[in-house]
Amino acid sequence: MAELIDGKHVSTVLKERIAENVALFKEKYNKAPALAVIKVGNDPASAVYVRNKHKACAVVGITSYEYNLPEETSEEELLAKIDELNNNAEVNGILVQLPLPSHICEDRIINAISPEKDVDAFHPINTGKIFSGKYDFLPCTPAGVMELLKFYNIDICGKECVVLGRSNIVGKPMAHLLLGANGTVTVCHSRTANLKEVTRRADILVVAIGRAKFVTADMVKPGAVVIDVGINRLDDGKLCGDVDFDEIEKTASAITPVPGGVGPMTITVLLQNTMRAAIRQNEEK
Ligand code: NDP
Repeated sequence: MAELIDGKHVSTVLKERIAENVALFKEKYNKAPALAVIKVGNDPASAVYVRNKHKACAVVGITSYEYNLPEETSEEELLAKIDELNNNAEVNGILVQLPLPSHICEDRIINAISPEKDVDAFHPINTGKIFSGKYDFLPCTPAGVMELLKFYNIDICGKECVVLGRSNIVGKPMAHLLLGANGTVTVCHSRTANLKEVTRRADILVVAIGRAKFVTADMVKPGAVVIDVGINRLDDGKLCGDVDFDEIEKTASAITPVPGGVGPMTITVLLQNTMRAAIRQNEEK
């Protein structure tokens, strides 16, 4: 049976460290690091994600400001809010919860956030920096995966790493981080030919496609480490990942569950990024 990679546990341990750093920051600067979270509209899933982010901030002592804007907010109004927060020295991190209503251009909004406060690391300056390996912030989910691999002492150097999915927020940065850690990286997507042959090469397989239980046991090499980023809701309301956990855990060497694997790590890295932003902004003064 595979070792369970317990994201809840790792996230609890890392949050304790973040809380210690927040306490030191408060002692030194007499204020807490602060994150502003903007939500536009009434998407129920976004409401849950945003609530969880505020809760996590409270746990480690980071101040979080909540801006719940109505669905009909115009792009100009949202840009004005971002401009105000960019210029507010009390705010260290700015996060705009995606997706946005269709009348607002997400790229224009992401590009408007000051790169120094872009704790999601979606701004082109921050995504570009990942290529050079000299970055200030990393996107939360792939960085969370790297934290999990580190915590469980899973060596990446020289390993065959296959990333299934090539989105800008997960697959592509994930591939770069694995490459930066000296993995031999292959990225697969919906047009990949002979997918099974490629995924079976992986010593470390990271799956982020958004298809419930898409990766079956025959697609995974025995002994592989399997990281499931996917979050899918089944008809019975339960959450499941992109891999067939029950079958694959019989042959993998280590595997993340869904929920309780990568998910908790995403918010933990957001807290780390906010802490880092606060330190950088205050040290620069
Ligand atoms: P996107 O929809 O942006 O990207 C999906 C990727 O999967 C695309 O590159 C697509 O290929 C590829 N893909 C889709 N179907 C197939 C297929 N049949 N075979 C091979 N490749 C396929 O998704 P995200 O990256 O944003 O998210 C992926 C999953 O991760 C989702 O379930 C999402 O909910 C979850 N997620 C979880 C997070 C967490 O905190 N745990 C955070 C972010 C996302 P192509 O490019 O060719 O279309």
